Amino acid sequence: CPLPTPEEFTRVLQEAYLRYKDLNEGKNADYIPALAKVDPSLFGIAIVTVKGDVYEVGQSQHPFAIESISKLFVLSRVMNQLGADELEKRVGVEPSGMPFNSVLAVELIPNHTANPFVNAGAMATTGLVRGGTQDERWAEILGTMEAFANRSLPVDQEVYRSESETNSHNKGIAQLLLSYGRMQGDVLGAVDLYTRQCSVSISARDLAVMGATLANEGVNPLSSKRVVARENIPHILAVMMMNGLYDASGGWAFRVGLPGKSGVGGGLVAVVPNRYAIAAFSPPLDAYGNSVRGQRAIEYIASTLGANVFIGT
Ligand code: GLU
Repeated sequence: CPLPTPEEFTRVLQEAYLRYKDLNEGKNADYIPALAKVDPSLFGIAIVTVKGDVYEVGQSQHPFAIESISKLFVLSRVMNQLGADELEKRVGVEPSGMPFNSVLAVELIPNHTANPFVNAGAMATTGLVRGGTQDERWAEILGTMEAFANRSLPVDQEVYRSESETNSHNKGIAQLLLSYGRMQGDVLGAVDLYTRQCSVSISARDLAVMGATLANEGVNPLSSKRVVARENIPHILAVMMMNGLYDASGGWAFRVGLPGKSGVGGGLVAVVPNRYAIAAFSPPLDAYGNSVRGQRAIEYIASTLGANVFIGT
């Protein structure tokens, strides 16, 4: 089935933007002070195809904090390193059914880490990134995100500072994981790397390029470089489908039928395997922590273009 034409992509993007730009529901994340003050009216959407064609509308090049979406790229890095089986053993893949930073989940879920997209599993995943020093591990993490985006990505120092001052809850989770033998070594060092990875600044356009790399079986369609082993792609997309939108992932899969990942900075990406990725940025979040306009826009685009993976093409 051929890709939608450039006219179709352009039209559906315009329609989605106009439909939802005045939707004023939700509110910015406020547990990280630097995120609370981002302009809530910002709204951008981008689509990048596996051929490397880019379509965008609104503030699609406005920088925002990647936050939880970074978990997707660190998962890809660590799966490249360890393989899917080992990742499943060391971190897990089951939905937790509880909020992303739940301490209760750490206590109650048998493997304690649940999956790579809740904070426990995400910090454990970051703790598995290879490297002899913090700097080497950070270079691996940032280098992976940059290979996905095909450009160098800055850390938003204000977000990093703001999060570092307010991440005692994450430090608590990491200490619990150490006590259960689910994290080893310098766990607070891993929390710092995790906090830094969340503070990386991207745009909706970058995010669509990053998603298109997953859509394109792990090869970045702009650089033509392989970023993820091909055999890992279905595993990564499955984790996204089950856990990508916090504890609203079930509803998202039910309505949209696309692997997605959101972050509390207001970013959201959905992958249409072997075809394209759709990314949106709009800061106000619903009660689950997912961008309100982002979800609506991507749902509209996906249904208009018939992108649901459970329907097929
Ligand atoms: N830095 C955030 C945290 O760990 C990421 C949250 C998110 O986007 O879900 O609290």
